[in-house]
Amino acid sequence: YEPLAQADPEVQKIIEDETYRQFSGLELIASENLTSLAVMEANGSILTNKYSEGLPGARYYGGNEHIDKLENLCRERALKAFGLDPAVWGVNVQPYSGSTANFATFTALLQPQDRIMGLGLPSGGHLTHGYYTAKKKISASSIYFQSFPYQVDTQTGLIDYEGLHKNADLFKPRMVICGGSAYPREWDYSRLAETAKSQGAYLMADIAHISGLVAAKVQNNPFDYCDIVTTTTHKTLRGPRAGLIFFRKDRDSEVEGKINAAVFPACQGGPHNNTIAGIAVALKQAADPAFKEYATQVIRNSQAAAKKLHELGYKLQTDGSENHLVLWDLRPIQLTGSKLESLTDLCHITVNKNAVVGDVSAMTPGGVRLGFAALASRGMKEKDMEQVVEFLHRAVQLSLEIQKSSGKKLVDFNKAAAQHEGVKKLSDDVE
Ligand code: PLP
Repeated sequence: YEPLAQADPEVQKIIEDETYRQFSGLELIASENLTSLAVMEANGSILTNKYSEGLPGARYYGGNEHIDKLENLCRERALKAFGLDPAVWGVNVQPYSGSTANFATFTALLQPQDRIMGLGLPSGGHLTHGYYTAKKKISASSIYFQSFPYQVDTQTGLIDYEGLHKNADLFKPRMVICGGSAYPREWDYSRLAETAKSQGAYLMADIAHISGLVAAKVQNNPFDYCDIVTTTTHKTLRGPRAGLIFFRKDRDSEVEGKINAAVFPACQGGPHNNTIAGIAVALKQAADPAFKEYATQVIRNSQAAAKKLHELGYKLQTDGSENHLVLWDLRPIQLTGSKLESLTDLCHITVNKNAVVGDVSAMTPGGVRLGFAALASRGMKEKDMEQVVEFLHRAVQLSLEIQKSSGKKLVDFNKAAAQHEGVKKLSDDVE
């Protein structure tokens, strides 16, 4: 039982380097966060050794008396964190990730080739909500189900609820999915529920990105309107990497059995008990008043950054933010998301390229997505966001200057950026 540093110095070194990267740079990936030491301890614990297929009290393996307690505790905390009545809502805490939580939900409630409507990927939706392209069915959710995405309005960048309602009337979906990965605004769950109800369809919210904000009650509450709510646990919720499925029991007496059977044995094998321990710890932390302060600060920071970008003359999709993210449209300044992402990477600022409404190709997206959860977890406030935006502004100016001399190709741009004195200076300043 040697510690890692002795047993495998190579892996230890990589972990140390990544630790340095995460804390010396500015983490602006909207789907990431910095989880707590307690969550990481639970996640890295001896619980990884145990097999426990099945559910508490009904396992396919012996020796699960402690694991049963853990999973029950995690389930109780999950309902409590979102203020849910256990008589009305149930939860499965075993999904390995957000994608498997979503696919297990479809497996539970739909038949193969049933119709689904989710927000299109170029509009800020997620792959697992039925994504396909003109050439290919990309996500299993479009391979096994018929998908007809709804979109944001091309002028405002806001969800076209009316278009969705009209198309739902024609397409007759069995499930309407809301939630996304790059939508900076609130969701109108009551309107979505109207559409779903008019078709006798399930309404599912995937709150992967905003679940921490929902738990802190600083976002609209999907549980008031939806039949199913799925989430990842590692974004604004600040837990380990996993997924949860909440299901409303009072409208369908069979839903609990269907969801549980879809997670295991239909889509997964044994639960990752170390992860479930990490989720339980994160959910306890989410019930603490300090978590509400953090969640409030996430939104304040996002809005402060949006305001500053706006003042500098940049275009933002929907002109602002009501959650943890900002979608920055770089097309008016003739820059691609890929170039800005590459350049900021050299400067210890981590962002990701992202499609903006009207983009033709997801491979060369015209924007970047900025997320503010990780920096709020580090204790940064609105004033710090001004500095962050200053750095981003410098990164844009450098990108434009380098692009002029290096031409259009990303490889040439990257080569030139790596040699550029201004880039080195920005890198030092950020670090
Ligand atoms: N759902 C949404 C809305 C997401 O943004 C993501 C990931 O970014 C997922 C699901 C998938 O989660 P995972 O990467 O844990 O499979």
